[in-house]
Amino acid sequence: MPTEEIVKSGVERLPMWEMYPGFWAYTRWIIYAIAVVVVAVFVYGWWQRIQAYRLGRKAEGALDAKGARAGELLRYWIAQLKVIKETYQGTFHLLIFWGFVVLFIGTALTVLDEDFWRLLTGNKFIHGNFYVIFSFLLDLFGLLAIVGIVLAMFRRYVTKPKGLDNKSEDATLLLFILAILVTGFLTEGARIGVVMGAKGLNNVGYEASSFVGFGLGKLFGDSPALHKLFWTVHILISLAFVALIPYTKALHIFSTAGSIFTHSLKPKGKIIEPIPDMMERMEKGEEVELGYKRLENLTWREILQLDACTRCGRCQDQCPAYNTGKHLSPKEFIQATKNYWQAKWAAKRDAQVELSGKPAEGAAEAVPEGGKFLLKVEAAMNGEEPAVVGYVDSKVLWDCTNCMACMNACPVMIEHVPLITAMRRELAMEFDDSEAACKTFFKNMDTNCNPWGMNPGDRAKWAAEDGLPTVFDNPEYEYLFFIGCMGAFDAKAIKANRAFAKILKEAGVNFAILGEMEFCCGDSMRRLGNEASFQAIIAMFKSTCTDAGLDPTFKGKKVVTLCPHGYNCLKHEYPDFGFEWQVFHYTELLNQLVKSGKIKLKGGNGKTAVYHDSCFLSRYNDLTAEPRELLAAAGYRVMEPERRELKTFCCGAGGGRVWLEEHIDEANGIYRINNVRADEVVGVGAQNIVTACPFCGMMFDEACKRSSLEKAMESQRLVDLAELLAENMVVKEPKAE
Ligand code: SF4
Ligand code: SF4
Repeated sequence: MPTEEIVKSGVERLPMWEMYPGFWAYTRWIIYAIAVVVVAVFVYGWWQRIQAYRLGRKAEGALDAKGARAGELLRYWIAQLKVIKETYQGTFHLLIFWGFVVLFIGTALTVLDEDFWRLLTGNKFIHGNFYVIFSFLLDLFGLLAIVGIVLAMFRRYVTKPKGLDNKSEDATLLLFILAILVTGFLTEGARIGVVMGAKGLNNVGYEASSFVGFGLGKLFGDSPALHKLFWTVHILISLAFVALIPYTKALHIFSTAGSIFTHSLKPKGKIIEPIPDMMERMEKGEEVELGYKRLENLTWREILQLDACTRCGRCQDQCPAYNTGKHLSPKEFIQATKNYWQAKWAAKRDAQVELSGKPAEGAAEAVPEGGKFLLKVEAAMNGEEPAVVGYVDSKVLWDCTNCMACMNACPVMIEHVPLITAMRRELAMEFDDSEAACKTFFKNMDTNCNPWGMNPGDRAKWAAEDGLPTVFDNPEYEYLFFIGCMGAFDAKAIKANRAFAKILKEAGVNFAILGEMEFCCGDSMRRLGNEASFQAIIAMFKSTCTDAGLDPTFKGKKVVTLCPHGYNCLKHEYPDFGFEWQVFHYTELLNQLVKSGKIKLKGGNGKTAVYHDSCFLSRYNDLTAEPRELLAAAGYRVMEPERRELKTFCCGAGGGRVWLEEHIDEANGIYRINNVRADEVVGVGAQNIVTACPFCGMMFDEACKRSSLEKAMESQRLVDLAELLAENMVVKEPKAE
């Protein structure tokens, strides 16, 4: 029906609404003019922001594989699959987000209907049953969004969880959204009141689908003045909100989409990238940027990620360093780096300084607070006091165990660990800013290629005693058993490796070891920031293999190891240096052997076991089921600690931290990470505390020897999964001669 007829009929029971009922004829055009200004302010804000992202360098591959990236956007931005993992926060965020999305779609359709379709054709397409359903959905989602805002405010201002800090921008955003929603309902109510007055209550029953507005309409009655007031306030607040998005916390609606769309699509375990052609360029005497110390070192993707951080605190809640009272909070780390970027951006915008931090020609010496240095040590090296904000303290960087709990928790895919590693590179290689223990570790690695500086000739001692074949004894091996430094020199790890070798023999696996030729994989070296030595180790290993007549790419070979750190490094990082092997953790191989019947386990022992997930198995490689399946197959009743699988709590050894001193001051709330974790796992009360990582084993061993656990450990024992399985393996009778 043409709109004029609807309007003329006045009392018809036709479900539709009037956008500008009773307004001055030019109201529509005034709104259009304001909307043009709003769009201009919005676009300018984003243009500026994008220029600020572009202060970073090129981000290789950040926009490749667009189909896969669109899928990520769908999962994590639209469906909010990571946000919802925390039930309370996830629920209210989902209500607000989806409330807003539906209202946005509703508004867009209304504008299309009223300001385009009606102007062009004289008709409206939102009427009849469509109008009824449309109105109902808008009211429903608007109401749910208000519930979401109330829940968010309750958490932020009443329950006040520890990890959540409050800034005025948080309250402003929540109140802004609330104001839009509330004035939207008030406008709707007043409009329905006016329509009721014009058509009579009995003729507007269809408006009951706007169940909130209908009730308000009855309350307000026929008051065109009230409607105009609410309408004007609602439209102006909504337009102001849109204009201010790029300048306020509301920008996270879009910056988070950018962060999710551009995050690394590589396997989770491959989060550290090599410095391109580092060795070659260094050999040629070229200047190589070793780590991050200036804004230009960051990529635009990393800057975009900083901007996407909403300070939700989920990373901090999971961080073992933060939760044991250390200097590091991943949230604050991201915020400090972001402050630095913003200070540099402001400085550049004001043309006070060049990006390098030097005052621009003719500009005043003053540099905005925090704008000059990224690393505190950089300021010190320049003989200056670092600014209060916008620098990262080296203590913060050294505290990180690389456990990846922060990245696993972050709903917007911010990648903390690569950023921390890049800054550590600067500390380790450029500024020599590392603890004495770290320097000793580097020295031992450089001289003897193992963390303790042990005689490399002893690396294969126990393996030789046990008669394990080397690659020269058995060149047709299927599995290269990579023993690793812990497996070579640490008594507890040797026990586990021996047990594993026993199982391999029993299962008839065709394997060999590298023997004295084996090197440290270099994982700790790399994660402590010494990329140069890491790459030197690999180069040395390759040339040793070549000299010995082995294929240095190990193409087509399989590798198995007990150490999750070595496993991750060999599997995900060595291929960057030409290795073409296939790498397995021993729990994967044993699980295959049990399932294929090559290993028989006794089962039915009725004992209990609690398994501690290593970060490098669970979060880095999603290996959580295999160890549990093996325990169950061996007849153990598996008990679980509260923090497990992808939410496991680190033992404190990762990221090279195992070689550093851990500052503790329990009286002031600073604890050892391994003690906190051991207390939790021992507290489960299982007879066997099972690890599948030599580093976790070592950290637990130390923690379980404390007097506070003495009693509990009388009835519990710490054991590696390989040992437990070897104990429970059915050993075949030797064939009679
Ligand atoms: S990797 Fe672990 S220790 Fe490092 S910041 Fe993230 S949560 Fe904290
Ligand atoms: S980094 Fe991610 S998890 Fe941490 S506060 Fe920012 S948005 Fe939240």
